[in-house]
Amino acid sequence: MPKTPHVVVAQNGEAYAGAFEALARASVPNLLGKTILLKPNAGRASQPLSGVTTNPQVVLAAIDFFQQHGAKVRVGESPILGVTAEQTFESTGITEVAKERVELVDLDARKASIVPVPNGRVLSEIRVCPDVLEADIVVSIPVMKTHMHTVVSLGLKNMKGCLHGREKVRLHQLDRPAGLPEDIKTLDAAIADLAGVLRPGFTLVDGAIGLEGLGPSAGSAKQVGLFVAGEDCLAVDAVAAHLMGFEPTKIPHLRLAAEQNGGCIDLDKIETEPTELDGLVNRFKPAPTELSVEYPGVVVHDCDSCSACLSTVVMLLERYHSELLDYAGPDKKVHIAMGKSVEDVPAGTLLIGNCTANKKAQGLFIKGCPPVASEILAAIKRNTK
Ligand code: SF4
Repeated sequence: MPKTPHVVVAQNGEAYAGAFEALARASVPNLLGKTILLKPNAGRASQPLSGVTTNPQVVLAAIDFFQQHGAKVRVGESPILGVTAEQTFESTGITEVAKERVELVDLDARKASIVPVPNGRVLSEIRVCPDVLEADIVVSIPVMKTHMHTVVSLGLKNMKGCLHGREKVRLHQLDRPAGLPEDIKTLDAAIADLAGVLRPGFTLVDGAIGLEGLGPSAGSAKQVGLFVAGEDCLAVDAVAAHLMGFEPTKIPHLRLAAEQNGGCIDLDKIETEPTELDGLVNRFKPAPTELSVEYPGVVVHDCDSCSACLSTVVMLLERYHSELLDYAGPDKKVHIAMGKSVEDVPAGTLLIGNCTANKKAQGLFIKGCPPVASEILAAIKRNTK
C-alpha cells in the first residue's frame, strides 16, 4: 500500500526563517554523506524579490539545512534561452548567498545525457543535464507562481530546468498526439512524462513572495509568507496550488502526472501539517490565457510558443503597447503571432521568432530565438517608414 504523503506548511513573513522551519518540520531521508543538488527557479535574470525566481534567502536556508544534516550541497540551473546560469545566479541574488558556501553549477556546461522515457505520452527520451542524474537527491525549490501555459509553476514544472539547453524548447514543439483530451496541452503531457523520470526527491515551495497574474515572468509580485515542503512532489504541488486558490485536480499537468506516473494530488489523501489549510489560502490572480484581453487593440496568436517568446512579447506589450498601436492594420488591430503552430494570420502580422519563419510571407518576420523586444520595435519602425 503506498505511503500517505506528508506535506508541511510553514507560515512566516521572513523568507529564511520560514523556509528553514518548513524543512525542519518535514520528514527528510537520511542525508549524511549524500550529494544534494538544489534546483531553485533561477531560470531568468530577474531581481531577487521579484517573485519570478526563487528568493535567495530561501536558497540559503536550504543550503544551511542540508549542510547541517551532513550532505554535500550544490546549486544548479539550466536557464531559458538567451541567458547563462552565471548571469541568472548573479542577478537573482543566489551567487551572493552561495559564495564560499557551495558550488554553483551551470547545468548546461557538460554534455547532455539521454534518458529514455518509458510509457511517455509525447516523449520517448529526453536530454538531461548529467549533474542532475549524478545527485543522490534533487531538491526542487520553485517559487509559487501562476503560468500562462500551465496554470501554476511549482515543483514539477521547475524540473524542466534540469533539461539540457534547447531541450526545454523542444517540449514546446512536440506534435500533438492523437487522443489527447482537448483541455490538455501538449506541454502538459510533456511535463507529465517528465514526472516519470525526473521527479525530485524533495520539494520546497518558496511562497515568501509569489507571482500572480501574467506569469511566469510578467505578473505582479505577491507577499504571501507560506512555505510548503515534503518528499512527494505532486502532493507538495497540490497543497501549494490549493493555498494559491486553485483546485489541484483541475491543473492538467498535475492531473496527468498523477494518473500516468503515480503520485497523490487528492487533498483528502494527503497528510498535511497543519491539518486545516483553508485559513491559509491566499488567492492568486490567475494568469490570463489570452494576452489580447490584457492589451486592447492587440491580437496575440500564441500558437504553441515557449516561455522565452512569450516573455518577449509580454515585455514588448508592457513597454511599447501604445507605440505599437500606431502600426495597426486595416482592422485597427495589431496582430502578433508566435510559436511553431502558426497557420493563417492576417496580412501584416508581426511574426515573432524563428518558429514562425515558414510563415514569413504573411507579415513582418522578426528572427531570433527569442528576439529581443527593443529589436522588434526597431524592425517595425524600419519596415513601416
Ligand atoms: S522562436 Fe520563440 S517559440 Fe520558437 S523556440 Fe525560439 S523562443 Fe521558443
